[in-house]
Amino acid sequence: MKKYVYFFGNGRAEGRAEMKGLLGGKGANLAEMTNIKLPVPAGFTISTEVCTYYYASKRTYPRTLRNEVKTALRKVESAMGTKFGDPKNPLLVSVRSGARASMPGMMDTILNLGLSDRVAAGLVKKTGNPRFVYDSYRRFVQMYGDVVLGLKPVHKDEIDPFEVIIEEKKKSRGVHLDTDLTAEDMLDLVVRFKAAIKEKTGHSFPEDPLEQLWGAVGAVFGSWNNDRAIAYRKMYDIPESWGTAVNIQSMVFGNMGEDSGTGVAFTRDAATGENLFYGEYLMNAQGEDVVAGTRTPLPISHLAEQNPKIYGQLDKIRKTLEKHYRDMMDIEFTIQQGKLYMLQCRVGKRTAFAAIKIAVDMVAEKLISDKEALSRIEPDQLNQLLRPVFDLKEKEGAIKEGRLLAKGLNAGPGAASGRVVFNAPDAEEWKRRGEAVILTRIETSPEDIKGMDAAEGILTARGGMTSHAALVARQMGKVCVAGCSALEIDYTTHTMRANGKVINEGDWISIDGTTGEVLQGKVATKASEVLQVLIDRTLDPKQAPIYQEYAKVMVWADKYRRLKIRTNADQPDQATNAIAFGAEGIGLCRTEHMFFGEGKIGPMREMILADTEEDRKRALAKLLPLQRADFEGIFEAMNGRPVTIRTIDPPLHEFVPHEEPAQRQLAAQMGISYEKVRQRVEGLHEFNPMLGFRGCRLGIIFPEITEMQSRAIFEAAANVKSRGIKVEPEVMIPLVGNIKELAHQEKIVRRVASEVMAEKKVKFNYLVGTMIEIPRGALTADEIATVAEFFSFGTNDLTQTTLGVSRDDAGRFLIPYVEKEIYPKDPFEVLDRVGVGSLMKIAIEKGRTVRPTLKVGICGEHGGDPSSVEFCHQINQNYVSCSPFRVPIARLAAARAALSDTAAPSKAAKSVKAKTKKRRGGKRS
Ligand code: ADP
Ligand code: MG
Ligand code: MG
Repeated sequence: MKKYVYFFGNGRAEGRAEMKGLLGGKGANLAEMTNIKLPVPAGFTISTEVCTYYYASKRTYPRTLRNEVKTALRKVESAMGTKFGDPKNPLLVSVRSGARASMPGMMDTILNLGLSDRVAAGLVKKTGNPRFVYDSYRRFVQMYGDVVLGLKPVHKDEIDPFEVIIEEKKKSRGVHLDTDLTAEDMLDLVVRFKAAIKEKTGHSFPEDPLEQLWGAVGAVFGSWNNDRAIAYRKMYDIPESWGTAVNIQSMVFGNMGEDSGTGVAFTRDAATGENLFYGEYLMNAQGEDVVAGTRTPLPISHLAEQNPKIYGQLDKIRKTLEKHYRDMMDIEFTIQQGKLYMLQCRVGKRTAFAAIKIAVDMVAEKLISDKEALSRIEPDQLNQLLRPVFDLKEKEGAIKEGRLLAKGLNAGPGAASGRVVFNAPDAEEWKRRGEAVILTRIETSPEDIKGMDAAEGILTARGGMTSHAALVARQMGKVCVAGCSALEIDYTTHTMRANGKVINEGDWISIDGTTGEVLQGKVATKASEVLQVLIDRTLDPKQAPIYQEYAKVMVWADKYRRLKIRTNADQPDQATNAIAFGAEGIGLCRTEHMFFGEGKIGPMREMILADTEEDRKRALAKLLPLQRADFEGIFEAMNGRPVTIRTIDPPLHEFVPHEEPAQRQLAAQMGISYEKVRQRVEGLHEFNPMLGFRGCRLGIIFPEITEMQSRAIFEAAANVKSRGIKVEPEVMIPLVGNIKELAHQEKIVRRVASEVMAEKKVKFNYLVGTMIEIPRGALTADEIATVAEFFSFGTNDLTQTTLGVSRDDAGRFLIPYVEKEIYPKDPFEVLDRVGVGSLMKIAIEKGRTVRPTLKVGICGEHGGDPSSVEFCHQINQNYVSCSPFRVPIARLAAARAALSDTAAPSKAAKSVKAKTKKRRGGKRS
């Protein structure tokens, strides 16, 4: 016979903490606490299998359930020395729902079940405390009437019908608090409640305790499919098939007088993680009174003074629980006439700060291992540690004053305040004047890079989490709110409208990239402690406890990860930041961003608009020393770490001016007619630039560009090496789909390398490799690897080309696609393992058959996404590369991937690692 009911009481339980699937979280932990001899009132749990049965069988129960419940009830009676329904000595119970995961959308708990007119009268005789009895009774009738019999507000602005009756009563009695009502008042409320239930629902309140019990059990199972619960399950991916359990537990009473009470607590501070007992309680109260807000509860520290004996017991339980569960716990307790009872415990929810502090502290306390500590910190939580922060009180104040303008996507976490500017040049100029600015654009483009760099934060009206603005902001570590569609931006008048307000250029706004909020005016911010130590270097690490915890977690992560972590950086300062965050190399240096730098865009445009090879070479000659200086800066900053530099990639039209005044200016500069400039720009127009004249195609049609870039890279390498700094350049050819493309470019690169070594009389090592970002490149990886010494997956383009989805045009359908679960997550944020991932696996497999030492990495945005990092680990890549501020996240994600990897690293990966090491140890470094 199948077992459906699990008893707990008298120090022994049939369940255990591990049985959450069957007993729900609440039931399993009530059993566990009973087993470790904590004072838990006796009770029993009806398993989730009954819920499954109930829905599979037209809302009926298994035949054997009634008998099992009866038997369990007898056991509770004998454990408590009371009898269900017996007026002389009644057992009262609570009926509590409890799914595997905590679900606030579920049924409310019913307390004091078993009371009726007869039983109440008997209990008054037994306790001599009519106030307590009728307080319990009126609470019970109210909860039962609401939850089981369905007397609740019909419209959302209607007041709870029971509260209406209570308010009337208090008014007529001239009192303010429930606690000021007398026993007679409470009894009168019971009578009125019952009448209201009968009148409004047609149901009579059941006087028979068993009928009450089964009514409540049915309501719990029914609540599994109420709208709130369904909505909650959707939001948190809880399967409907799990079902809920029902817990029936003997009541203990916190409302028996001033020696009784009830409370909730965390075994440590859930906000800061401090090892302090943290919680609240109320005397002479029951159930939800503490959190209901009708009376102000007292801090748990106060209990130490008010009742040192109970506090001592509670503090001991706190330690017992932490030792047993080896985690921070969230507990509920009740004190009945000076005796303590435990009613619930579960692993407590916590902020990122608390998660890290608790994990680090618990390792020091030898409660958990460093591996477990890593498993308890979500990589993305590290973000909270790195971002400058708004003073929370100030922000709340601003919102109260009605200064919230709009809400967009939280694309670059952190807080920033500044004056609004509407274009990049203004941002730069204002910044030079010493102003803090928020660059506010409809959307951004590579042209805006310098302005974005100058801004405190970036705000856009269009674009998603992987839009240009979001991507660059994360790389720069800038605060960014993207896709804030409520903003009406007018570039011509330099104004924007939002929430009925007009914001002019120069007005102060504040953006919260952690929440997506945009606020009018200034809100005070401060740099996070970790940044003060690592980046600003204004804080001594010894004075920075949060930094020290962060550093410990990073040491553990580095101990267990197998993946190397690199960064995407185009400038020496980005590289320096990335190293401070633990980057071991640059995985992607985009040369095109350099062309927007000081004095570079002019010659670049001349090069693009040149008519003849001659002219083009003349322009390139101007660019050479500028690029070389950039590379020298980067090599110096990286100090011997590998640097992957990608040759020019974007379509040329992105570099030329599209408005008349700028075109006229350029014409004057070049000494040609405006008309000619206009025509040339028009000539660069493409219908589908993403698949157009870009990537290695540029270097193949204009080999002199690749030649100049190679020369800049290698001359910089030679110069830096001559200064005694090691260099490890890796030249990466983008958008290769055909071995001949790569071979063509490789030849130029290698020729220039030899020339430079001969000219400068300096020898240096370098690699030539390619990005795999076109399906044909992945599918012919065995050919490509005959030339390429490394692959780097450009998963932004590889996702676009594999899915046939243009990222910049995907906004309209991709979000609905994710909502309809066509793709489980946005494939530009979380790597599509099934499709794109298959191509990656094929490429690695094929590539390593011809070149076992092939180094493989990823440099798309996915390199900083924990789930994608895990996948890169699983397919035996050598490294991931991500924006500087995501380096710590990637380190932790890589460690967690290694720890959850039950399969030993494959032979292929091991042999590559061994060989790479050997080679490194030899001549390469
Ligand atoms: P939730 O899941 O919403 O926290 P609970 O089932 O934990 O609901 O119950 C709500 C409140 O009722 C809690 O404060 C809890 O401590 C209290 N409570 C539940 N069962 C009992 C009981 N047997 N005796 C006393 N208080 C109880
Ligand atoms: Mg609870
Ligand atoms: Mg690309």
